[in-house]
Amino acid sequence: MAKLIFDAHLDLSMNAMEWNRDLSKPIAEIREREKGLTDLPDRAKGTVSLEEMRKGGIGLCVATTIAPYKRPGIFNTPFVQGWNSQEQAWAQTQGQIAWYRTMEEKGELVQISNLKELKAHQQLWESSSDVSKLPIGYILSLEGADSIINMKYLEKAYNNGLRAIGPAHYGPGVYAFGTDSTGGLGENGRSLLKEMERLEIILDTTHLCDDSFWEALENYHGPLWASHNNCRSLVPNNRQYADEQIKALLEREAVIGTVFDATMLIPGWERGKTTPEETGVGLKHVVQQIDYVCQLAGHSKHAAIGSDLDGGFGKEQAPIDLETIADLNKIPELLKEKGYSESDIDNIMYKNWLRFLEKAWG
Ligand SMILES: [Zn+2]
Repeated sequence: MAKLIFDAHLDLSMNAMEWNRDLSKPIAEIREREKGLTDLPDRAKGTVSLEEMRKGGIGLCVATTIAPYKRPGIFNTPFVQGWNSQEQAWAQTQGQIAWYRTMEEKGELVQISNLKELKAHQQLWESSSDVSKLPIGYILSLEGADSIINMKYLEKAYNNGLRAIGPAHYGPGVYAFGTDSTGGLGENGRSLLKEMERLEIILDTTHLCDDSFWEALENYHGPLWASHNNCRSLVPNNRQYADEQIKALLEREAVIGTVFDATMLIPGWERGKTTPEETGVGLKHVVQQIDYVCQLAGHSKHAAIGSDLDGGFGKEQAPIDLETIADLNKIPELLKEKGYSESDIDNIMYKNWLRFLEKAWG
């Protein structure tokens, strides 16, 4: 019986459609084709392929569509790609969905959008002795809601299978303020949350700046999670959550996914300058983040994995003892060494996300 791992944050289609990566190919081949390219910092250093996911037992993930709208004269994070209109951003997400659908037709992926599909997929993976040919289940999410032109488009997105939304990404968005910016939700953000609540779309609080975060918690009454968010006490930066934010999430029965991006594991990391070698950033730092959430909660029912391993970085900005995403399966051993029991480890590796979805979709 295979042990399942659930990774709640991957940007698979962004990698396919913007990085031009054929994720159905072996990782060595994906890297080989990028040798000599200098357009992006993670060229030839990617750690995610569908085969590597299967090797690690990652049979379930939350996979994004992502397309920020970059308004003229408004702060742009250089490492995030963006579009000059909301219409272009919407169309980009539709291209990304087309890629997911094509992977489904190929038997590589399967979309999970309700409890029945979730149960069947879990059963399929847990009862198979060889998972190398199984489709990977993905729950469709949207990272930054700029591409939702108006609420009619939200409904269209829901009908495409969209089940979770993080209203903002980096900087000021159409609906909320994200990482490295400050500001509240405004009229747009509040109506988005209201409509999400009606459609029972999960609120992903990741990337909301502090003001928008607190306002979102007040205005949204449905199920919420933080798909990929680390702890500010360990790595001080606005991208991470302060203890009071984590506690507020715990009160709301949220699950928090730990990110594997070295910039969120090591204090003072400078993109493109600091290296894994000089800092010794490792999976032990991931475990430290997981443990921090467990200590705040007093148990293991809220900490989980949201690796973000294909979120615009590769080996140059990842734990040193991680060659590919398959190495997520090293985490259980590290947790065991820290004193975590078998059932705690299952909670963290997949059961917390499953329990959350069972409740949200039940
Ligand atoms: Zn992100």
